[in-house]
Amino acid sequence: MEELRRRLAEDLRDVVEGEVRVDPAALALYATDASLYEAEPIAVVCPRSSRDVERVAAYSADHGIPLIPRGAGSGLAGGAIGQGIVLDFSRHMNQIVSVQGDRVRVQPGVVREQLNRQLRESGRYFAPDPSNSRVTTIGGMLGVDAAGSHAVRIGSTRDHVVSLECVLSGGQRIEFGRESLVRPRQEGPSVVDFTAGMVPGLANKADGLKLSSLTPLTRQTELIERVSSLLRENESLIQQQQPALLRNCCGYMLRGILRGEMLDMPRLLTGSEGTLAIFTEATLYTMPLPEYRSACMLMFGTMEQAIQAMQQILPLDPSACDLLDRRLLSLGRGSDVRFRDIILPEAEACLIVEFPGSSLREVQQRLDDAQRLLRDRAIDFRTTREATTFEDVEFLWSLPSQVVSLLASLKGASRPLPFVEDVAVPPEKLAEFLVAAQKIFQKHEVTATLYSHAASGQLHFRPILPVPHRGDETLLEPIARDLYRQVIQAGGSISGEHGDGFSRTSFIRTQYGQLYRVFQQLKDLFDPLRLLNPDKIISNDPQLTIRHLRKTRPAEKPAPAGATPLLPVMQLSWTAEEAADAAVRCNGCASCRITAPATRMCPFVENNGDEEVTPRARANVLRRAVCSPGLVDLLSDESVRPVLDSCFNCKQCQIDCPSEVNIPHLLLEARAQYVQAHGLSKTGWLLSRVHTYARAASRFSFFTNWMLKNGLARRVFERFLGIAAQRRLPKFSHTPFLDSPRVQRQDNTGAPGSQRPTVVYFVDYFANHHDPELAEAFVRVLEHNGFRVFVPRNQTVSGMTMVSVADLAAARVVAEQNIRELAEPAREGYPILCTEPSAALCLTQEYPMLLSSNDAEIVAQQTQDAGSFLLELLRRGKLKRDFTPLNLKLAWHTPCHTRAMRKGAAMLELLQLIPGVEVQVLEKGCTGMAGTFGLAAENFQRSLQIGKELISAMSTIDAVAGVTDCSSCRMQMEQGSSIPTLHPIKLLALAYGLMPRLGERLKSRPSGLSLS
Ligand SMILES: Cc1cc2nc3c(=O)[nH]c(=O)nc-3n(C[C@H](O)[C@H](O)[C@H](O)COP(=O)(O)OP(=O)(O)OC[C@H]3O[C@@H](n4cnc5c(N)ncnc54)[C@H](O)[C@@H]3O)c2cc1C
Ligand code: SF4
Ligand code: SF4
Repeated sequence: MEELRRRLAEDLRDVVEGEVRVDPAALALYATDASLYEAEPIAVVCPRSSRDVERVAAYSADHGIPLIPRGAGSGLAGGAIGQGIVLDFSRHMNQIVSVQGDRVRVQPGVVREQLNRQLRESGRYFAPDPSNSRVTTIGGMLGVDAAGSHAVRIGSTRDHVVSLECVLSGGQRIEFGRESLVRPRQEGPSVVDFTAGMVPGLANKADGLKLSSLTPLTRQTELIERVSSLLRENESLIQQQQPALLRNCCGYMLRGILRGEMLDMPRLLTGSEGTLAIFTEATLYTMPLPEYRSACMLMFGTMEQAIQAMQQILPLDPSACDLLDRRLLSLGRGSDVRFRDIILPEAEACLIVEFPGSSLREVQQRLDDAQRLLRDRAIDFRTTREATTFEDVEFLWSLPSQVVSLLASLKGASRPLPFVEDVAVPPEKLAEFLVAAQKIFQKHEVTATLYSHAASGQLHFRPILPVPHRGDETLLEPIARDLYRQVIQAGGSISGEHGDGFSRTSFIRTQYGQLYRVFQQLKDLFDPLRLLNPDKIISNDPQLTIRHLRKTRPAEKPAPAGATPLLPVMQLSWTAEEAADAAVRCNGCASCRITAPATRMCPFVENNGDEEVTPRARANVLRRAVCSPGLVDLLSDESVRPVLDSCFNCKQCQIDCPSEVNIPHLLLEARAQYVQAHGLSKTGWLLSRVHTYARAASRFSFFTNWMLKNGLARRVFERFLGIAAQRRLPKFSHTPFLDSPRVQRQDNTGAPGSQRPTVVYFVDYFANHHDPELAEAFVRVLEHNGFRVFVPRNQTVSGMTMVSVADLAAARVVAEQNIRELAEPAREGYPILCTEPSAALCLTQEYPMLLSSNDAEIVAQQTQDAGSFLLELLRRGKLKRDFTPLNLKLAWHTPCHTRAMRKGAAMLELLQLIPGVEVQVLEKGCTGMAGTFGLAAENFQRSLQIGKELISAMSTIDAVAGVTDCSSCRMQMEQGSSIPTLHPIKLLALAYGLMPRLGERLKSRPSGLSLS
């Protein structure tokens, strides 16, 4: 295999402009999608143009290597993975080519939401609406014929396609539209009959060469002719066997393709899962944005009542009617306070119903009519929200899209698994079918969650089962077999909108009987060598549903003969099983690929949508390394470096990931393994140890500060220390706070017996060496509020910078020192307070993973950031509010590490207590500074790029100062700005009248190479 990969890479790199990758990291990242499956590709190609795809397809045919097209990899059936060349269209082929009237021409990698953002400007949209629109690509939607809640009114993707530019196996590029069958036959050689006597899937080189030598015209002519003959010959079989359902993407759609003398090729190809042709461009119909819509949320005490209500409503022609069960509702209540207000805790089911109309009056009337009808039929329900504006209606629809992703966050060893998640039945049979489905789940002793686009008969079940592991016994097949039998009996389809993939391909014969033979013939016409996405739709493997299940348990490391195999040795304080469990929580849903405005997710993804910078990539490499035998060395491979380097431990992914995957610790483990093999980079080593030479820098602060603002000296620093020469740096204070008389004096003690409540202050590096005024201000604010403040003298830096670069040995040394200082007061029950959010995070989240000691746990429990401590006081009515007005306009930024503590922006609330203070909140995402990341010359430009929106806002904003509680965010906020940025504690101290000299800080300006 290695030799094949090496040769393939050499050959393709000569002819393809995009990246050709055969390295272990790429193979790990593209081995999974959002399904339960895993299949290692032979290679990954990120094409830059249709020409690239032609060349890869010709190469594939000539060498008998399969091709698997891929968009965002968010498919749930395993359609975008396989043992061949994976073509990732999302990386480069993601442009909107043109917008004209009611049509748009796009490349396949365009994300649906990105497309609609642009179309919205002209009052139009691309209508099919899968609930994960913020990540799904148009190529993926075309691949599975995606649809969503509004399918009953607007149909599915195939109803909106004008034409498709396709590359066929063999490399011919053809634009397929609605093809007339009456035109004179084009001249051209007859196609070779590859299918005669061929063993499916075993491509032979001579056949491949013949295929790639044919012209596009020859193949187009032959395909149109043969496909139309095939459909004509089997017309009655198609009518009998393929149900005319609102939702059906099982197998190939043969119904309605041949209409008189017209062959609707786009309709046939949409939903073919990359098994007939690869789409390289598409022309799509767009629709005017609906002018008037109304929606309501109806709550029911039983599922039966909800189904009865749905059946009454369907004849009223709603544009959507979705059904959610109790589990989804409780996830919704927990996910957003706004949902808590409208989801009744006692509700067992809910319907979201939408009506379109031509006026506000009409849509309101239709809502009223529906509810009146339910009352007339004596159905017990409560309406908790009606919506008639665009925003309100969209808000109601955000509930299903949020809760479907959140399903994976349910705690426990069993999870709602997507394998029978896509059945569809005629809507009028829904009630009867649900009862039968319930019996099947009872028979197998499982419960299942349910979300349904009831108006179109689409049902998303997720049985709750232990996460399967390749090779283990599992209930997946028996449940699927029983449920699908029932679906077929009800006249439904086993795949409504997610495609067949590895999940359902082996059941397509059961669905269609004789018609499967026609599918095989169709496949052979398009893909005679069976190289396009093998084992999807067409396969002879009866066990496909479980064959490629992911490996989800740690694999033992092969040992020399006679010795016991070992589990991989972990660097953090967790076992290989715990690390595997954490990684397996990532179900690949691709939500961390979202780059929409107003999301913070991963700052690296925001900047560059490559798969390798996504949080999912980090979970994938770690899971693969731990769970695949022989792959433990993956983490020391050079190719993993870009995956590891594009993370600065900001922890935003952990907050925004619907499954709450602990990506930061997975990444840290992976990075520590890499560092173990290769050592730290020089810059990483130097910057993470700034505190060790900071004492000397403080002692000679006059000289150090002069050097820090001198351009020549800074260039020398850049050369030898790796600190970016253009980065504005803070001055060193001559006396670090921990050396100050306040800390050194006798009565700085945590000894029990004080009249006043005691708190402990953990200072950390920045306040100690660069901003002792902040530390002093905090102590005074606390004392003003009646506390005794104990500042342990021998505390040291938190070590977050060392953690971030995975210098775990050094991080453990400082962690142990701090725990020695803090454990005793923590046991006394004293709160440990931090003015630096990353210090609070380090003590609460990183120390327990570094040390796994009881003391580390106790310290973690007692630690809090300064803002949330003071806000709690306020809420208990114990915070003094004797502020003098400040009359200031300020610009606030919430640091990622404050957000990561999930306690809101406490400091912002406190600031707003000061009379006269007007705060403008800047919601511009991560600053890109991230501790020492933005200090390093090698990261400087990337750091500015990530923080560009914030930097630009700070350079133009009408405010006297920026405010943030994170010292490194402050550095970035001052990088391009002429106003200072302050810690909010200083403003509180100023408003309390405790340190009038702080008023001067508002006049101090950042300039040259120095901060304010
Ligand atoms: C949380 C969540 C919610 C979802 N909700 C919905 C929903 O409401 N409705 C719905 O329909 N689906 C839904 N899905 C399933 C899935 O995300 C969608 O079907 C989506 O359209 C797949 O898009 P993708 O870009 O991720 O494609 P991928 O997963 O990368 O690929 C999907 C299929 O399309 C093929 N393909 C990709 N690009 C091309 C191309 N250029 N040429 C030919 N074939 C190609 C692939 O080979 C594969 O078979 C959901 C998935 C998740 C994780
Ligand atoms: S990290 Fe979270 S958001 Fe990203 S793919 Fe995994 S589960 Fe989804
Ligand atoms: S910690 Fe931050 S940088 Fe790292 S993967 Fe998560 S969001 Fe991205």
